[in-house]
Amino acid sequence: MSTNVKKHASKTVNSESDFFDTASLSKAYELYEGKCTCDTSYGNDCAHFLSNALINAGYSITSGVKCPTGRLIRAKELRDWAKKMPNVVERTNHDSSSSGYWFVYQERANDGQGHVCIHKENQGKHTSVGTGDYPDWEVQTHYQF
Ligand SMILES: [Zn+2]
Repeated sequence: MSTNVKKHASKTVNSESDFFDTASLSKAYELYEGKCTCDTSYGNDCAHFLSNALINAGYSITSGVKCPTGRLIRAKELRDWAKKMPNVVERTNHDSSSSGYWFVYQERANDGQGHVCIHKENQGKHTSVGTGDYPDWEVQTHYQF
């Protein structure tokens, strides 16, 4: 077993214990870094790198096809995980999400290509983290938990 676990540089937070005790999408957004602790790339790493950020933010993701360090690598499986989060709020588009951090599942209608990212919504505009963002694809399901 490799013990070469990368640690994040400490971040400025009001309370370090609060930061590490409660998982949140805002933390995952901040911690996203476009890679995974496993240092592997599958070519299409949207779910892989996003689940790395979610796990680093404190979430646990137990089922699905995973990379060597246990991060999910399939967008639809990560969407299924988000869908089942306790007290999840689900919205079908950006219009009803004017603020906050949202896990977003995007899907292209003509071939069913799926993508996941996190949006920080701000009055009809948004910023995102992930390997890409496809706001023009037909499916734009937002989940907040
Ligand atoms: Zn990995």
